[in-house]
Amino acid sequence: MQEHKIYFETYKASADLPTYAQALWQKAQEASQLAYAPYSHFFVGTAILLMNGDIIMGANQENAAYPSGLCAERVAFFQYGMKPASPIKAVAIVARNQANGYVPASPCGACRQVMAEYRDNQAHDFELFFQANADYIYHLPNALDLLPIRFGAKNLVDSETKL
Ligand SMILES: [Zn+2]
Repeated sequence: MQEHKIYFETYKASADLPTYAQALWQKAQEASQLAYAPYSHFFVGTAILLMNGDIIMGANQENAAYPSGLCAERVAFFQYGMKPASPIKAVAIVARNQANGYVPASPCGACRQVMAEYRDNQAHDFELFFQANADYIYHLPNALDLLPIRFGAKNLVDSETKL
């Protein structure tokens, strides 16, 4: 038997984050202002920091035909995917609603899957920061810890091989 563990750290507040992450957190808050969320009133912002210092922002985009909308994370990642100028260093995700200001939000399963593939496509890990509950900001040094035992490109290749 082998044991496998995921690793993450927690911070009480964004002011406690490392300096680069504080700046990225603010960019994610800024991105949440760009959300189009007339139905849920749940405004999500994502900021992706690249190794070259560039920051790519994304915000959720809803639609009257609900499934046509897209999460902030994927808006940002697909934008990055069109021009991956430099590897990803870190990602911050924030959410707010009209009544309570900033609220906890954790990436959905589909966004985890998309982020994992972008991680697979670069040589090193990238970090994630998000407020998963009212008490803590979560910091995952390796984004892959968000979706262990996932489906990936390797599964398609291995489907040619009988176990
Ligand atoms: Zn999502």
